[in-house]
Parts: sequence; structure tokens; C-alpha cells
Amino acid sequence: MNSFWKIAVIGSGPAGFYAAGELFRQQSWDIKVDMFERLPTPFGLVRGGVAPDHQKIKSVTKIYSRIAENENFRFFGNVEFGRDIKQSDLLEHYDAVIYTVGSPADRALGIPGEDLSGSHSATEFVAWYNGHPDFREHKFDLSVKYAFVIGMGNVALDVARILAKNPEELAETDIADYALKTLRKSQLEDIWLVGRRGPLQAAFSPVELREFLELPEADVMIEENALELDAESQHILETISGKDTKKNIEILKQMSAMAASGKKRKVHFLFLASPLEISGDGKVEKIRMVRNQLVKKEDGSLRPQATDKIVEEDAGLVFRSIGYHGKPLADLPFDQKSGTIPNEFGQVKDPENGNLLRNREYVAGWIKRGPSGVIGTNKQDAVETVHRMLETFLKEKMESGKNVSNPDIVLLLEKRKVEFVSFADWKLLDAHEIEAGQKQGRPRVKLTSTAEMLEIFCQKR
Ligand code: NAP
Repeated sequence: MNSFWKIAVIGSGPAGFYAAGELFRQQSWDIKVDMFERLPTPFGLVRGGVAPDHQKIKSVTKIYSRIAENENFRFFGNVEFGRDIKQSDLLEHYDAVIYTVGSPADRALGIPGEDLSGSHSATEFVAWYNGHPDFREHKFDLSVKYAFVIGMGNVALDVARILAKNPEELAETDIADYALKTLRKSQLEDIWLVGRRGPLQAAFSPVELREFLELPEADVMIEENALELDAESQHILETISGKDTKKNIEILKQMSAMAASGKKRKVHFLFLASPLEISGDGKVEKIRMVRNQLVKKEDGSLRPQATDKIVEEDAGLVFRSIGYHGKPLADLPFDQKSGTIPNEFGQVKDPENGNLLRNREYVAGWIKRGPSGVIGTNKQDAVETVHRMLETFLKEKMESGKNVSNPDIVLLLEKRKVEFVSFADWKLLDAHEIEAGQKQGRPRVKLTSTAEMLEIFCQKR
């Protein structure tokens, strides 16, 4: 009889590692965790999403690596759920499964011209400059003069900042080499950040916004009067707004007081504007936008309402950055609207069966709650899921007195000839990338092709 509870975690981003860490913290449960990851490398958006000039944030992987050192932890990289292993395999081999697959898709604007060449999702661009193997072949034409980033969240700021920065600053980071090469040839002059609501409603955080005060090669421009809030927004600022919103407004005021100093590029913050159409002859040439006003809804929120003022600007690139979206997983329920797997405190619900709870399937992170919060938000989220799971285990244990013996997944993976890699393999690759980085005064030089990574594993094992 197996005296351990065997848990499969699907996805190796922050939520997956925090779930594993919380499982190992339980003194009264003997738990083994097998983590499965589609890529040969762990850490999800910390490797493929966090901007290369935000290295401090990436140091959170030290915590995840410590969790991976637990003798009851195994990492199976290069194993894709739905292709190499299916839900039925997991339920046969594990007592429970926690899906922590994030929100890999993007949300579309739903406007004409969105599919023109030169119109991209921020998700694609971020994954490209971070060296994600699936995006390394994507092409971004930076020989144009004008870029529009739609959305006012932290991802939009990341995109605008990477476009606006001096590539030589980025050369000291772990940005993908091909991206640096492209950015070095950039002809961009004007980068517009477009928010459909006002400055008070912007989703970005002050730490990220403040970086725009210090861009060596870009002036920041804010429309005159843009910070003159409407009466309702002013009331909200004075009475309800949290400290981050207040700080945002202070920083925007600082920006607006700064005179343009003839730097190479300009970053424009344009509030109260929504794109209506992107147009051009086979590629992005123009963007038409409507100016908005804010109207108060019944729930008290201020929403954008189109006015009759239309503006059209020359454009060469458009990045939509209006949020990530989850993708359905085979054999699991999915709520298309929120892009999440329906759940109760992390326990998967089956909407087709009158919302009955599934006993052995759980979710944590963005696929549970949607794409919101910072990396640390996933900790409390994963803790909640793990405790919900342990409650179910406790009930099962009381009823049956024991946990079941399940076969080892390795036998199945070998039978299917899945070329899986371990955490020890990742550490070899990690050391290889860091060593290559040291020679150039960079934190690491990333390998960006799965084939190259597998080659390194073979050489170094
Ligand atoms: P986000 O924070 O949800 O921001 C989305 C933005 O898109 C909002 O400004 C939103 O405006 C706008 N938007 C939504 N639908 C729109 C539409 N149809 N037309 C025009 N604008 C629209 O999403 P995100 O920037 O993708 O970030 C995802 C999460 O990752 C966030 O929690 C973020 O803080 C986090 N993140 C953190 C960091 C960091 O800490 N350094 C870096 C990157 C990402 P409305 O408010 O009007 O809806």
C-alpha cells in the first residue's frame, strides 16, 4: 500500500510552485508532488512574462527551486497535458490533480483591421522578447515610426517601456538575443498608451509607472487637461481611492509637469480613447479612435461612453494589451466568458452536472480566478486550493482509512516515448545559460528553442 498521497500539478508557474510548497508544509500528511510542464523549462510567466529589465522580480525563482529540492518532488518538463498525458491518465496515477496552467491566450478588441499585419497581441510580443520557444519565430516590424499600445495595465507599460528603452540598457538583461537585435534597429519615434477610461481608473501600479520618469531616451507626454478629473472621479480620489491610485495620479502630475527635452522617442499617455478601426493596405497604417467620457453605472463604477469626437492617427504597429484569457483544457469544464475553470475555493465544479464538485480535481492561479494580481497573489490563492483539497482527503481517509496505490507515471511516459526532462536537467540548462551570460555581463543568455535545450540536456547529463 502506498502511504503517500500523490498529487499531480499541471503547470510550473508561481501558482504551481506555491501549491507544491503548501502541500509540503503539511506535517500531518505524507505527500508526493509530480509537476508537469509543457516546456523543458520551469517557472511559467516568471521566465516567459516578467520583463527582462525586472530581474529582481525574477529572483522569486529561488523560492521555487528550494521547493523543487524536496525529496518528494519531481519535475516532468517537456510533457504536454492533452498531448502526452490526458486527464484520465492523471486520475489513474494520482490521488488528486491541481491545474495551474495560467491564462495563455489574449483578449481581442473585436474591431475591424485587428488581423492586419503589424497588429499584435501584447502577449505575443512579451513572449517573443522573453525567448518563449513558441514565439521566437514571430516577426515585429520596428522600422515604423508610430506604435499604439491599447490598454493601461502593467503589461501595456511593459510593452511601451521595452519599445521606448535604449537597447543598450536591455543588452544587460536576459532579453532574447534576436529581440535585442530587432530593437537595436528600431525606428520608432512615438509610442502611444491608450486607455479607454481616465487616469484614476488605470490598472497599472505606481512602481511600474514611475519607471517612465527615468527613461533616458524617451520623453513622456500627457495631453493638456488630461489630469483634470471629472467631479465624480475627483470625489472618488478624495474618498475611496487606495494609496496606489493616489500615487499614480501624483506620478502622472510629475510627468505632465516635465517639459519635453528632445529625446529620441516620445511615450504618450492618452486617456479616454477607444480604438474603433485599424486600417491600411495589407498592413497597419492608420488607427481610428473615439474619445470617451465617463458615466456612472448603477453599481457606482465609472464606465467609458463614446462621444462624437473621432480622431485618426498614423500608425505602424498596434499592440492590444487588454488582458490575458484562459484556454479550455481537454475533459475539464470551462467558462468561456471569464476564461477560467469553474471552481469553489479551487475545487473544480461541473456546470453541466448542476455544479457538482469534482472530487479529485482542483485549480489554482489565473485559471482559477482569472488574470489578475501580482506573483505573490498566487500564494494565498494556491494555499486556499490546497486546504480545500486536504479537507476532501480528510473525509476520504475517514471513510476508507487508506489512500490508494497508484502506478508510477514514469512507466506510462516511457511507454509513450515522451522525452521528459527532470529538475536536475533544468539546473544543467540553468547553469549553462548563466555561464553564457557571465561572459557578456548579463544574468543569463536564454536558449529559446526546445530542440537546442534538449541537445544541452543530452550533452550535459
Ligand atoms: P489588466 O491589469 O487587467 O489591464 C487591462 C487593461 O486593458 C485595463 O486598462 C483595461 O481597462 C483595458 N481594457 C480591457 N478591455 C478593454 C477594451 N475592450 N478596450 C480598451 N481597453 C480595455 O491586465 P494586464 O495588464 O494584462 O495584466 C495582467 C495582470 O498581470 C495584472 O494583475 C497585472 O498587474 C499583472 N502584471 C504585473 C506586473 C508587475 O507587477 N510588474 C507586470 C505585468 C503584469 P478597464 O479598466 O477600463 O477595463
